[in-house]
Amino acid sequence: MSTRPTCPECKGEHLRRTRGVGTRGGHGPDLLPGLHGFWRSAKVDVVLCTDCGLVRYYADLEARAKAKQSKRWTGVR
Ligand SMILES: [Zn+2]
Repeated sequence: MSTRPTCPECKGEHLRRTRGVGTRGGHGPDLLPGLHGFWRSAKVDVVLCTDCGLVRYYADLEARAKAKQSKRWTGVR
């Protein structure tokens, strides 16, 4: 059984990751509103499938902890 991570879209195995990307760029949308620190924007790790192009964002630990307390971020049913 393979433990290699695969793309949820195409099942490809050619995934690339970069860590610590800021989410409050000057020219794009705020990807994690309400979850930034005072001095530091919330960060995400980005995983890109080089087979199909699917991009996934994973919020960092601090942003995830804040989302649990935030009234802006509601549960999904
Ligand atoms: Zn893919």
